Amino acid sequence: MAGPPDASGPGLAGEPPQQPHSSRQAPPERPAQGGPQSGLLASLFAPSPQCQPMLLETLETNPYVRLLLDAMKHSGCAVDKERHFSCEDCNGNVSGGFDASTSQIVLCQNNIRNQAHMNRVVTHELIHAFDHCRAHVDWFTNIRHLACSEVRAANLSGDCSLVNEIFRFHFGLKRHHQTCVRDRAILSILAVRNISKEVAKRAVDEVFESCFNDHEPFGRIPHNKTYARYAHRDFQNRDRYYSNI
Ligand SMILES: [Zn+2]
Repeated sequence: MAGPPDASGPGLAGEPPQQPHSSRQAPPERPAQGGPQSGLLASLFAPSPQCQPMLLETLETNPYVRLLLDAMKHSGCAVDKERHFSCEDCNGNVSGGFDASTSQIVLCQNNIRNQAHMNRVVTHELIHAFDHCRAHVDWFTNIRHLACSEVRAANLSGDCSLVNEIFRFHFGLKRHHQTCVRDRAILSILAVRNISKEVAKRAVDEVFESCFNDHEPFGRIPHNKTYARYAHRDFQNRDRYYSNI
């Protein structure tokens, strides 16, 4: 598989090719020129025609995303499609990122292959956005904060669910999900930080237990869309109870 050497690590064995995404402390995937200008540059970096319609479909129909959008709103961080999403061409094989400095989710239109991929990327990045909203996340200097959010995003976004189901079917290995989450979190950190795999691993190990068991706002690990729909229903009911108090 093309891309950084880490992208073909053991965690991705048997998994359909997936790009690591990034929670960016800076926007390294954006064009070095500083963004769209005019003329040729503008046309080079103009959103691909598929990106916006796929995003719209994701926002309107994907149960993971609908729950996260509700949860963000509930936490006072309502998401606006125009303001908080940006379709861009990205370097390497990164498929998306959360830019904490602008609270914007970047969707790498040159690397997002289809609707299912768009669903996963938006879900993953919205989990970072949710963490950014609910907690004072120190993305820039505290590697454990980044590690925690990457563990949660890998665990709850469905990044590991497809492979998980395949492995469960074939081998009944429940622990494979945990292994997948751990490995993907490490890859995600390495995609945005210039640190050794050992350091990234240690950060993930330090936070794994508590962050793997933090399922907010899903309340459970949503292994597939049906679980996600149940989780959304429960969230809406929870919301209702609160507003009745
Ligand atoms: Zn991430």
